[in-house]
Amino acid sequence: MNKIVFQNPDGQPKPAIKQTYTSIISASISEMKCETHDKSIEFELVFQAPNIYFVETTACCDEFKSIVEDQIARMLS
Ligand SMILES: [Zn+2]
Repeated sequence: MNKIVFQNPDGQPKPAIKQTYTSIISASISEMKCETHDKSIEFELVFQAPNIYFVETTACCDEFKSIVEDQIARMLS
């Protein structure tokens, strides 16, 4: 699973960071559709204290999930 690690001295969730990365990821994968099932992917950023947002994806199949997660990983690197 992809994760975003950020500076977070107080250990509290940061909605602004979540919103920013949600927009970035959304823009990057919005055009992607599973070739087999013709569906797009859904994702959510889930905070884990003290300083991580995990990118949780829900896809129609493991193959497409893996393609999209690779794309997200490249974007975040
Ligand atoms: Zn699929």
